[in-house]
Amino acid sequence: MKKILVCEDEVSIRSFVVFNLRRVGYEVAEVGSGEEALALYEADPTFAIALLDVMLPGIDGFETCRRLREQSSTMGIIMLTALTREEEKVNGLRVGADDYVTKPFGIAELLARVEALYRRLQVPTEAEQLHSGVFTLDRHAHCLLVEGQPVELTQIEYQMMEYFFRNPGRLLTRSEILEQVWRNEAYVDDKVVDVNVRRLRMKVEADPSAPHHLLTVWGRGYQWNG
Ligand code: CA
Repeated sequence: MKKILVCEDEVSIRSFVVFNLRRVGYEVAEVGSGEEALALYEADPTFAIALLDVMLPGIDGFETCRRLREQSSTMGIIMLTALTREEEKVNGLRVGADDYVTKPFGIAELLARVEALYRRLQVPTEAEQLHSGVFTLDRHAHCLLVEGQPVELTQIEYQMMEYFFRNPGRLLTRSEILEQVWRNEAYVDDKVVDVNVRRLRMKVEADPSAPHHLLTVWGRGYQWNG
């Protein structure tokens, strides 16, 4: 099942993307608004990936992403953002996207990012729990327990937490985290690590601005203390 939901209101871009995704073997459903994307997902929650444009009529891509993420913590979400709007990239990741591609994009880049995310989603999980202090990572339910309370994680957040859990107290550099979680994908930059760390802190820290567990090692990377 390689099903992907493409949400883009510009018909020429959408047709181009849909044509190429189908060409490489994806089953594609296409819509022109966030509302339609949400309705379609509700009717058929088997999509592996959603590709969301930011600027849409009605609710925008960020809001669409946020609502899709409420429905599914494991679906892959890629935002299509405008080249000149740096804040769009970060916003997309904040509302739960796994990745972003900036417009104008080449089709080779887009397909590479979709394929890479799809491969990550296929990584099998063993039924087992990892423990670190008051935290438990449940590989079966695919969530984080904080003092026994479940906290939903995106696919990327889960993989980062697993890496941190397996390396407590060790400095993990951005490039090590990129290599482990993103498998050295050509188009990913360090900023993605920082944004995901910020998002994880909202979930694991009592005060995200003064972290006790997910620490910054200035200029070098991050360190996990359970
Ligand atoms: Ca648009």
